[in-house]
Amino acid sequence: MKKSDLLKSSIAILQELVSFDSTSRESNLALIEHIRSYLDNLGIESRITHDASGEKANLWATIGPATRGGVVLSGHLDVVPVDGQQWSSDPFNMWQAEGKLFGRGVVDMKGFIAVCLAMAPQMLKQKLQLPIHFAFTYDEETGCIGVHGLLKDVVDNLPLPRAVIVGEPTSMKIIGGHKGSRSYRTVVKGVPAHSSDPRLGVNSIMAAAKIVTFLESLQQDLADNADKNSPFDPPYTTVDLGIINGGTANNIIPEFTEVQWGFRLLPQDSADTLQKRVIDFIDKEITPHIKAQSDKASVSTTISNNVAPLIPDDQSAAEQLIRHITGLNDSGVVSFGTEAGAFQQSGIPAVVFGPGSITEAHQPDEFIEIEQLAECIEFIENLLEWAQKDSPDSLFQPV
Ligand SMILES: [Zn+2]
Repeated sequence: MKKSDLLKSSIAILQELVSFDSTSRESNLALIEHIRSYLDNLGIESRITHDASGEKANLWATIGPATRGGVVLSGHLDVVPVDGQQWSSDPFNMWQAEGKLFGRGVVDMKGFIAVCLAMAPQMLKQKLQLPIHFAFTYDEETGCIGVHGLLKDVVDNLPLPRAVIVGEPTSMKIIGGHKGSRSYRTVVKGVPAHSSDPRLGVNSIMAAAKIVTFLESLQQDLADNADKNSPFDPPYTTVDLGIINGGTANNIIPEFTEVQWGFRLLPQDSADTLQKRVIDFIDKEITPHIKAQSDKASVSTTISNNVAPLIPDDQSAAEQLIRHITGLNDSGVVSFGTEAGAFQQSGIPAVVFGPGSITEAHQPDEFIEIEQLAECIEFIENLLEWAQKDSPDSLFQPV
C-alpha cells in the first residue's frame, strides 16, 4: 500500500476509535468489539481477557508465525476524562486543522493504535519470519491495571515475545526508562461530636493534616538528597498527594478523613522503605495520640496501586531493535509511568516509543500532528522489512 493511503486509512480508523468514549470509568467492550471485528474481517484472531466485572477487556492478536514470540506493539485503549475541560468542539468527534488531528485520545494513545490497525493488511501480505503482536489494554490511565491480565495470559499460554514497543507519545524518540509508582489510601477514623465541645470527639481532619505535613517534609528530604547523576527529572523520588476528603459540616467534628497519596519512584528506590517511614510516623505520632482521646479512633492504610518502573537497559533487545531500525542512538527517561515497566517485570524487554508529544496528552483540544503519524507508519514499515529477513532475531541475544 502507498504511504499516502496508509496515512488516509490511519486517520479514518483513528476517527472511529475516538468516537468510542473509552474514558477509564466506562466499559470499553464496544470499542474492543469494533477492533475485534475489524481484525476478524482480515482473518486475524483476537484473544480477549476481561476484568473481574466483565465490563472491560484487553485484546491480543498475532500476525505471522504464532509458534514463536515476536515484537509487541502495545497501547492502551482508555482515555482520561474531559470533565471540566474547555474543548472548542466535541472531543469524541475528531476534527482536523492545520496539519493536526484533534480529539480525546488522539495522542494518548489511539493515534498509535490506529496506525497499527491500518497497517495490519500490509503485515498479512508479508512473509514475516517473526510475528508482530498487538496488545491493547484497558485501565492504563488509572494505574496500569489492565495490562496485568493480558500479561498473565501471554506468559502462561504463549511463546514469550522478544520485545515490546509501548507506543505512548514520545515524539518518536526512544524512552528506555521511567519511574515506578505506588499509591496509598489512608483513612483516619475519628469520633463525631458537636463542634461546641471538641473534648467529646476526635477530629480526623486534624490528625490527617499531620500526616499531610509529614508527607511534605518527606518530599523535602527526598529532594535534599537527590541523586545528582540521575537521568530523571526531577532526580529524586517524589511524593504524590492527590485527594483529601473529610468532614460533613462546620459544626460537626469530622469522623472520617481519607488521604490518597503515594510515591513516584526512581527505579533504585524502595517503595517499602519509604512506606515504612510514613507508617512508622503514623504508628508513633498519630495513632497513640488519637487513641488517647478515644479507643474508637484509628488509622488504616492500604496500598491502592503499584506501577513497576522501567529500569533503563540500553543493551535490552527492545532498545537494540529500535536503534537498529531507526538509526537513533540516544535514549532518554521520563518521570511518568507506562505499561513498559510491567512488561519488563514479566521478562519481556520493553521501550516506550510512539508518535506525538506527551505535552498534548490529557489536555483540552488534545492533538497529534499528522506528520507524527506518517513517521510512525514509516517506522512500522521498516520494522516489517526487518521482520521479513532470514533470521531477524539474530539481532537479539539467544534466549
Ligand atoms: Zn497514555
